[in-house]
Amino acid sequence: MHYTPAPRDPKATPVRVNLLSDTQTRPTPAMREAMATAEVGDEQIGDDPTVNLLCERVAELLGKEAAVFMPSGTMCNVAATLSYCRPGDEILAHFSAHIIAREGGAHAALGGFQITPLPGPDGQFSPETFRSALHPRSRYQPPQTVVSVEQTANIGGGTIWKKADLDEIAKIAKANGLATHMDGARLLNATVATGINARDMTAGWDSAWIDFSKGLGAPIGGVIAGSSDFIDDVWRWKQRLGGSMRQAGICAAACVYALDHHVDRLAEDHANARALARGLSQLNGVEVQQPETNLVFFRPDGAGVSGDKMVAELRKRGVLLAMMDGRIRACTHLDVTAEMVEETVGLVREIVRGA
Ligand SMILES: *Cc1c(COP(=O)(O)O)cnc(C)c1O
Repeated sequence: MHYTPAPRDPKATPVRVNLLSDTQTRPTPAMREAMATAEVGDEQIGDDPTVNLLCERVAELLGKEAAVFMPSGTMCNVAATLSYCRPGDEILAHFSAHIIAREGGAHAALGGFQITPLPGPDGQFSPETFRSALHPRSRYQPPQTVVSVEQTANIGGGTIWKKADLDEIAKIAKANGLATHMDGARLLNATVATGINARDMTAGWDSAWIDFSKGLGAPIGGVIAGSSDFIDDVWRWKQRLGGSMRQAGICAAACVYALDHHVDRLAEDHANARALARGLSQLNGVEVQQPETNLVFFRPDGAGVSGDKMVAELRKRGVLLAMMDGRIRACTHLDVTAEMVEETVGLVREIVRGA
C-alpha cells in the first residue's frame, strides 16, 4: 500500500501550541547566527573544525575516547548495531524500543539482526529480566551480541533508568561478553532531571549517543561516542549508509550552541511537563502518567472522550499533539511556555466538559 504523510492543510487552524514532539523545536535566532558564522571544512575527510569541536565536546561529555557526528539519531543506532553485530546476531532491547518499532526495520533489513523484545513496565527491563534472557553460547542459538537501553525511555513515558540498574545490566552484559549500547536520544533530559552527570550515567556503556534535534533545539544531527576502534567502525558504516557530509559545520555549530545554552534549560521543560500533568490529573476521568522528564502520556477515555477525539478537538483549537501506542503523548520543549501549558489544560477541560 502506498503511504503518503498528511500534508500541511492551509485551511486548518494554525498551530499555536506544538506539543507533538521535541523534534518540532525551531532553531532560535542566536542559534541561526552561530550557524551562519560557523567555520567549516570537508567533514568527510575530518577537516571541518566545527564538527571536530562538537565531536570532542560530546566525547568529553560522555567520557569516551571518540565521537562522530551523524545526520540523525536513527543513523547512530543503525551504524552502532552494524558495527557490533554480524548477520544472525541477537540484540536485546525493551519491546517498546525505538530500534524495534521506529527505524523502518533497519536492523533486520540492513544487518540481518534479530532483536529480542524484553518485557517490563515503563519502557524498562530489570537486570533480572535481562539475566534470564541470556543463554549460553552454543551452536544452535544466535550469538547474543548487544544489549540496548533508551535513556530516557520514550514510549515508557520519558522515564529515567536508575543508574544502579544501568550499572548492573552493564555488569551482567560484560560478564557474558555482550556490548552495551545506550540510545541517549534524551540522555541529557535524564542527567538534568537527576543531577547525575552524563559521564557517570554512561560509564558502563560502550557506546552512547545524544540527539541534538530534539529538546536541545538544533535542526539536525546526533553524535555517537565510544572507543576509538568502535568509532572507526561507525565511520565506515556512516560512509556506507551515505551519511558522510561536507560543510556540516553549519549544522554542528547549532549543536555546539545547544550544548552551551540549551542543556540546563531542559529543567524548564520538565517543570512544564509536571504542570501539565498536574492540571490534567485534576480533570475527572483523565488518567495521567506522572512525568519524570518532558513527556506526558495521558488517556481521556474515562471522561467520555476517546484519545483520537481529544487529539482532533485540540487540533481544531490550535494545539497539536498525537496518539502514541494507545495514549496521547504531549511533549514539552524549547518552544513550549508555561502559558501554553496552562492554555492546553484549559482547552482539555473545555472538551471534557462538553462531552
Ligand atoms: C527520536 C528517537 C530516536 C531517533 O532519533 P532521530 O534523530 O529522530 O532519528 C531514537 N531513539 C529514541 C528513543 C528517540 O526518541
